[in-house]
Amino acid sequence: MVDWLEGLRRAEDGTALMYIAGEWTKASDNGSRTVYNPATGDVIAVVAEATLADGERAIRAARAAFDEGPWRSSSAHERALLLLRLADKIDEHAAELAAVDTMNNGKPLRESEFDVTDAANCFRYYAGLATKPHGQAFDVPAPSQTFVVREPVGVCGQIIPWNYPLLMAVWKMAPALAAGNVCILKPSEVTPLSALILASLMEEVGFPPGVVNVLTGAGPVVGHLLAESHLVDKIAFTGGTVTGRSIMQAATGNLKKISLELGGKSPNIVFADADFETAVDYALYAIYVNAGQVCSAGSRLLIERSLHDRFMERLVERATRIQVGDGFDPNTEMGPLITPAHMEKVERYIATGLAEGARLLCGGKRPEGALGQRGNYLLPTIFTDTTPDMRIVQEEIFGPVLVVQTFSDEDEAIRLANDTIYGLAAAVFTSDVAKAHRVVKQVRAGITWINTYHPTYNEAPWGGYKQSGIGRELGTFGFEEYTEVKQINVNLAVEQTGWYRH
Ligand code: NAD
Repeated sequence: MVDWLEGLRRAEDGTALMYIAGEWTKASDNGSRTVYNPATGDVIAVVAEATLADGERAIRAARAAFDEGPWRSSSAHERALLLLRLADKIDEHAAELAAVDTMNNGKPLRESEFDVTDAANCFRYYAGLATKPHGQAFDVPAPSQTFVVREPVGVCGQIIPWNYPLLMAVWKMAPALAAGNVCILKPSEVTPLSALILASLMEEVGFPPGVVNVLTGAGPVVGHLLAESHLVDKIAFTGGTVTGRSIMQAATGNLKKISLELGGKSPNIVFADADFETAVDYALYAIYVNAGQVCSAGSRLLIERSLHDRFMERLVERATRIQVGDGFDPNTEMGPLITPAHMEKVERYIATGLAEGARLLCGGKRPEGALGQRGNYLLPTIFTDTTPDMRIVQEEIFGPVLVVQTFSDEDEAIRLANDTIYGLAAAVFTSDVAKAHRVVKQVRAGITWINTYHPTYNEAPWGGYKQSGIGRELGTFGFEEYTEVKQINVNLAVEQTGWYRH
């Protein structure tokens, strides 16, 4: 049998090591954390658990690498070559990386394979972008010349969640490294494995020591340290809105640059004139991919009232046929939830929905038999007959729970769509092009789709309005978040000002 975890660097006792200052290291107090497979509850690895002292060491290493190492003076061309080599390494190790994410996160293998391809292409995209023009030049009154350059921000703390373990690491590191920054990545406590393998590939292709550090440990400990440290210049975070708020507060001490990719409760708006089967299909895909553990999930289905009953009938018929199971089973279409604790949180939301008076159309429970007893599985769930004030309508559940709302016209659809604290994503299904654009224009969300849901590209900015975040990842926007802007004014006639009389 293939050992998919062969790529981890381990101590003699088997503990997977962290990567700090170009060295593979245990925790300063030898502490560790057990990592589980959510599909089975089996232990898959034991990983070093960073202490504050380890965090400080990583920060000092990154600081030294930025302030004194060769990286700062590397050319964009050199950085691009490294990123391209890394992308090729990811391709070489694609099967391993996909298997590790499925083993650690539970998502179906074909979803993980998708993530790995995306990860390699993200490095390629930023390798290309690194060498493209980034500055500006102005025609200013003679004898001056003014131009603008972009420079790296410096030491970047990067904190990521568990739902896309590899891809979130890459979305953070690729633009940061392309722009010449150094990184300290803190993966989620529950899914650190693919990030550690990525670090070993980075070491192999030759990133200088300290330029990339992977610190495995607790959010409130080393994550907080990264947010708080005065030696860190920027903090980039993806995760829950509550955590994002605490990171923002911790970051105020040295007013570090901050970008936040937070939660969502995104509306998927279906008008009666939409292509029926396409809209049904995407309504399922919008919520059940990655078992609903997607920040941009279409977790609120807004359906034109006249279509509701017919749509629900078909939706439920198809939702109940979704194959729930272990991500390694090729028949599986939806995997488990990440942890027992998270599954229980989602179950509490289901109980809340029932208590609030919403009507459960399907799911709402664990599968029957062995599957329901072993892993963290929940069946695809749909609630209708909701009111806008219900908690299941307003709050991010982050599981396979679709909440249906109805509307009678365009204005009501827009009002309901905008009626949460979030503004990450939104979609519209209709065959009326003008109506689609009118709705998209009025929806306050950073990522929108017309007659589709979920596709996103390395070239396009990712991020939210309102309490879904600050800043953007990916594309040129994501690159710019990792740069400082410097204006340079040159006097073309080197002579005195003549301003003072004596
Ligand atoms: P989380 O906020 O609990 O944890 C995210 C990361 O923050 C983890 O690495 C965790 O260790 C760390 N952390 C926790 N407390 C911290 C603290 N006090 N200081 C510093 N770091 C801390 O989120 P999660 O449960 O891992 O992920 C789910 C959430 O992530 C959802 O709300 C989801 O919407 C959001 N998410 C957003 C996007 C996006 O692009 N907008 C993408 C994926 C996930």
